[in-house]
Amino acid sequence: MKSDEYGKLLRVPPGKKISLKDYDPAYKGDFVQKSEADEALKEGVEQLARYQDMLYAQDQYAILIILQAMDAAGKDGIIKHVMSGVNPQGTQVFSFKVPTSEEMDHDYMWRNFKALPERGRIGIHNRSYYEEALVVRVHPQILSGQRLPAHLKDKGIWKRRFREMNNFERYLVDNGTVVLKFFLHVSKEEQKKRFLERIDLEEKNWKFSSTDVKERANWDDYVRAYEDVLNNTSTTWAPWYVIPADRKWFTRLAVAGIIAETMKGLNLAYPTLSEEQKQDLVSARDLLMNEG
Ligand code: AMP
Ligand code: MG
Repeated sequence: MKSDEYGKLLRVPPGKKISLKDYDPAYKGDFVQKSEADEALKEGVEQLARYQDMLYAQDQYAILIILQAMDAAGKDGIIKHVMSGVNPQGTQVFSFKVPTSEEMDHDYMWRNFKALPERGRIGIHNRSYYEEALVVRVHPQILSGQRLPAHLKDKGIWKRRFREMNNFERYLVDNGTVVLKFFLHVSKEEQKKRFLERIDLEEKNWKFSSTDVKERANWDDYVRAYEDVLNNTSTTWAPWYVIPADRKWFTRLAVAGIIAETMKGLNLAYPTLSEEQKQDLVSARDLLMNEG
């Protein structure tokens, strides 16, 4: 299977109910080992760079990439490696943290709206409004602390949030923003291994957070919350992809392949000049040639 074909396999089919236990976090496609995949990743990254150049020149579409995952699944690595070949001017990366007091003073979409990529850009959102149905769902006290009217914090809130997210994405797509959503699916054992590495390797100490380790206790609740998100918000216009994340090299090549394949489908092209603009070039050339 070519790296650009993983999309079909990993996409959460809209309208179907999936269970994460049916997705193997250690899946590695046809590749036996990392060295074989390096070439495929390089190819994906180069393709991405070519499409991005046209995306930027054409200045019509924007690409919004949403990354969600358990801790240590490799979101930062995706941003670093998959985007390594693209022009920094054409990308906009945002990380969403615990909302600030200013953000809490608005509806939850407000900060996401402000961070949307401009036309011609690839925007990467490291976490997103989906946290409103993940961490907020797993920790009911976060919802209690939100300044929503009490009657809007009822049981129906999750269904409403899914509807809002789907509608928001529909709106984006209808206005020229392509929405791609990746859930990096890491296993609990692999997460433990990566946390231990962060403890044991000095150059990784800075990544370590004891809060992340405590959050492991809520693993099953997160799995349920993620499944509910995937089953309610993978749509034909803004699909979710479950990306195996126990092998970083596979995660990266699958994500690069899916983004490149999606951009290919946009039939991007460099802008062509009108007759008038072409005439303008001829005049400008004459002007330059006849200087002094
Ligand atoms: P990190 O990505 O490690 O910098 O951590 C960011 C933290 O912010 C994570 O623990 C997220 O769960 C949390 N976070 C992000 N969005 C929200 C939100 N809307 N409400 C509450 N916590 C959030
Ligand atoms: Mg963290």
